[in-house]
Formats: sequence, C-alpha cells, structure tokens
Amino acid sequence: MCGIVGYVGKRNASEILVDGLRRMEYRGYDSAGVACLYNGHIGVVKNAGKIKALREKVDASQLVEIHQATMGIGHTRWATHGAPNEVNAHPHLDASGHFAMVHNGIIENYKEIKAGLSRHGIECVSETDSEALIQLIAYCYTDNLERAVSEALKKVKGTYGIVVMTDREPGKLVTARCGSPIVIGLGADETVIASDAAAIIPHTRDAMYLEDYDMAVVTGDGVQMFDLQHSPVNREITEMDWDAGSAEKGTHAHFMLKEMFEQPDAIRNAIRGRLDFDMGTSILSGLDLSPRDVAQIGRVLVVGCGTSMNAGMVGEYAIEEMAGIPAEVEQAAEFRYRNPIVTPHDLVVAISQSGETADTLAAVREAKHKGAVVAGLCNVVGSTIARETGRGVYLHAGPEIGVASTKAFTCQVAVMLMMALKLARGRRMPRHQGEELCQWIARLPELVEKVLLQNDAIKGISKKYADKENAFFIGRGYLYPVALEGALKLKEISYIHAEGYHAAELKHGPIALLQENTPIIALLNNIPGKEKTLGNAEECKARKAPVIAVVSEGDEATAEGFDDMIVVPDCPPCIAPIPTVVALQLLAYHIAAARGCEIDQPRNLAKSVTVE
Ligand code: GLU
Repeated sequence: MCGIVGYVGKRNASEILVDGLRRMEYRGYDSAGVACLYNGHIGVVKNAGKIKALREKVDASQLVEIHQATMGIGHTRWATHGAPNEVNAHPHLDASGHFAMVHNGIIENYKEIKAGLSRHGIECVSETDSEALIQLIAYCYTDNLERAVSEALKKVKGTYGIVVMTDREPGKLVTARCGSPIVIGLGADETVIASDAAAIIPHTRDAMYLEDYDMAVVTGDGVQMFDLQHSPVNREITEMDWDAGSAEKGTHAHFMLKEMFEQPDAIRNAIRGRLDFDMGTSILSGLDLSPRDVAQIGRVLVVGCGTSMNAGMVGEYAIEEMAGIPAEVEQAAEFRYRNPIVTPHDLVVAISQSGETADTLAAVREAKHKGAVVAGLCNVVGSTIARETGRGVYLHAGPEIGVASTKAFTCQVAVMLMMALKLARGRRMPRHQGEELCQWIARLPELVEKVLLQNDAIKGISKKYADKENAFFIGRGYLYPVALEGALKLKEISYIHAEGYHAAELKHGPIALLQENTPIIALLNNIPGKEKTLGNAEECKARKAPVIAVVSEGDEATAEGFDDMIVVPDCPPCIAPIPTVVALQLLAYHIAAARGCEIDQPRNLAKSVTVE
C-alpha cells in the first residue's frame, strides 16, 4: 500500500527520498514525509497531501539536515489508524527526537504497547499504531539500534515493513519486514531501501528481498541480514528486470491510458515462448507440473481479490470447460478464514498482480499448510507470493502503475487460458482443438489492437454517460466475469456506482433500480447465451434504461434499437473476455476523464493491498 524509502550513501538524501516517493505515488497514499540525519540531528518534513506539496515544503525548509544529509527515510502513508493529517504522517519520531521510523502495515497490539509505555511516562502524540513502535524501539535502546529493533519487534503483533534510524548511530539504517515487502538495492557506495522496486530501479538493479522476520543493518557499504534472534541470514542478490523508463508515463495523459495501450505488447510478452503449436498445448515450465501431476489434479482452486479474482473466474470457466477438471474461484480472504476443504490433489492458483496482496498471500499459506500444490500467478518478479509458492507463471506485463488494473487483468486472463490449455491437453482435449486454441491465443494482441482503434469512438460515447450516478453491466458465460470487471473499472476511477450482474440475475432484484438515468452496458457478443442476454437488455430498455450494446463484428444488427454500440472482434467464447474488457476499460477511462477524476490515483484506493 504505502511506500517506504530509505537512503544511505554520499548523495543528497532528501532529493533521492522525495524522488523515490514520487515513483511510488501510484500505490495510493494520503500524506507523506521525509526525515534526514545530519551532523547528529534528525530533521523531519511532513505533509498531508501530495508529493508535489511535500517537495515544495522540502525545498522551502530551513532545516540544515534536510539539505545536507546523505542519509534518511521517507514514506507515503495510506492511513489505517488516525486521520491523514501532518501529525499522523510518517516518519514518526520517539519522544526524545533521537529515533525516527517509517512503517507500512498495522501494529495490531498498539493499544497495549501504548499503555505499557504510558506507565513509563512515555506518551504518543499521533493517533497512529506506528508511533507506538518507534517509542518502543527507543525505550528498548541501550547502545545498538538493531538490538533495540529486534527487542521491540518481538513484542509486536501485526504486520510491518519498517526502516529506522537514530542520531546515536549515524550512517546506519535498520530495516525489517513481516507481511509488508522490503527490497534493498545495492549501489556503488550507496544503498537504497524501498517497499517497491520502482524507487530502486533508477539507482541500481542489484537487489535483495527481505523475507518475513528478516532484519537488515544497512550502510553505504552494504548490508548485513539477521533474523530476530540475531543469527545471520543469507539472501541472494537478484537482478531486477524492469527498466526505469517503463515506470514513466511519457506522452500519455495517465498511466492507465498508457497501460491500456500497452496491452497488445504486454500480452505478447505474456504468451511469448509459451505456446506449442505442434502439440497444441502451452509450455508453462514455471508451473512445474509433469504429465503425471496434471493427470492427478482433482480440482483447481483459484484465489484472488478484486480484478485478479475476476480474471480467476475466466480461468475457472476455461479449466472446467476444456480440461474437465472441477474448478472454483474464491475470494482470498474468505478462503483463508472459512477453513476450506483442501486436499493434496488440489491445485491452488493464487493470482496477484503485485504478488504482495495480504489476503492472497495468507490464502497461499493456508493452502500450503493443507498440503495442496500451490502456484502463483504474479506480475512482480521476486514478490512474496511468487517466492513462497515457488512455482507459477509470471505475467511479464511490465510495471503496472495505474491503480485500476488493466494490462495485468488481460495478461492474467491470457495466462489462465494457457494454463487451462495445458491442463486440457493433459486430460481430454484433442490435439487439433489445442492447436486451434493456440492460434486464437496468439491472435489476442491483434484483437486488442482492433479494440484500441476505437478509442475515439468510445470516447464519444462516454460523453453521454459521464453525468450518470449508477450503471449496470450484464453478461453471461465467459462474459459474466467481464461484466464484473467492467463495473469494477468504472466505479474505481469514475466513482459512478456500478454493478456487474449476471444478465439473468438482474430480474432477481436489481431491475427495481432501473430508470432512465441508469445505463446498462450489455455484453451481447456472439457467444452462446447471447439471445438470452439480448432479451434481458430489451427488458432494461422497456424500463427506459439507456443501453450500450457491446456486439461482435459482423453482428451489428444485434445492437439495433439500443442507444449506443461498441463493436469488438468476433472470437470464440473463451477468447472474448480479453477484447471485450479492453472496450470497457476505455469506456471507464473516458467517463472518468470527462468527470475530471484523478484516474491514476483514485480516492481511497491503493495499488497493492498489503493489509487485510
Ligand atoms: N498503520 C500505519 C498508519 O496508519 C501505516 C499505514 C501505512 O501502511 O501507510 O500510519
């Protein structure tokens, strides 16, 4: 969720920190701050609001530490405890002002810790859970920061990614993680710590990822890692594979627009080298499933949240239909808490763009604990879910910065289709059908390009609907998850109350809400069930609701009598979700743009949801 950055080296720290925070802005935040250590003092500048305002405040600051320091820490906060104001913004200082910390996550027993500190005369000034931790660290301090940090962390319940510094030990940052990602970038004479590769890539590609309960002592010369008992821990140095340019939005008005237009290439990357046209199957070596393993899968459980869950539902349909293996998709938070039945014959597929989604990660752990084969489907290489599953498929979609997921969704669906194909060919699908599906998957980039060509037309349609306050998306079969995803996109970025419904379900309640101000986006592609959905769209029209008909190329007649039409390429049912959702992404984007919304950072949302 929020962003953490730490720097120790020879260059001006505040510039590197603020720039790092700017690169992580996409994750969603409400306040920000930096603390720099220079000449035995810590100087702090914090601000409720955007990084731009923080930068101005930093530039105008009179604090010598802010301008001279070559080490410091920075934070963008996504408030969990306490309002998003300056006092609650991080970095937090202890009561003496000698210790500073940034924290991502939630200290669940903060009230207990605060009460304990209070008995020793130490009072917190902010409403945050985080401040309790830095006060506790300062209280535990004798003469060594890492010892104080580990002592304090042993008393903590909850999740954290932290970076701490003290003016008693200049030149040293201590970082630790439990449930919130921390990456350490190793540069020449400098080290950068961050919660997100985006803040590190401009400085170095060599990175070390902390595991839960790891802590590290970081100086300009390098890193020493320990566990909380101070036994040394070794973590590999890996090379980060994203280039700095791909995290910039270039000439596009928004990251979301750029990322929607990147989809043909993103899908190309996701399928590159993974289709075996001769055998009519897919090559997903990261799944590490032998033909015998495939033959023994009893069930596939797909877990995810939000957009990833919608992609998982397309996967569920494809796996059942093609492979004949029972498949279910489940909200990851439900999965983790409802004591699901999981057996060693289950393949659990965990989908998460960031690979850090808290509930999905917990579902992975639950499934592993119960003996299932667990695979990750992540975009971020080296992310926690990717590492903990140890098997899976990377999307290779490139960094997704816009909070509303676009290219990750289409790549997730493309990968789920390839997974379904692999399972199907290992079970009952004949080779010729597999070959045909390979051809269609290979054509996905071209199908998406065709939809993107309609950008202007969809923009034109969007103008008519920008003033609406409610909308329904309806679809059937493979287009039902697309209706859910279309509605999710619209509500996320335009704040229009949008609901995705199975077309048949509309009559079981929601139809009561229809009126002339409530548009219906009806997915009427040429797939089985179209006629039924068409009937449902007519029912909406009869109640004066305006209808935008999404139809297949060559089947424009289906849209006759409706208010607007969007044409998508004609393709088999399992392929249709990808081009269709691209049309809905464009529609949501242009409606949000017409309403003047902050598209890349919608209110209250965060990019990777690392708290439950
Ligand atoms: N729980 C902390 C707070 O509310 C940290 C939130 C975050 O992860 O940004 O300040």
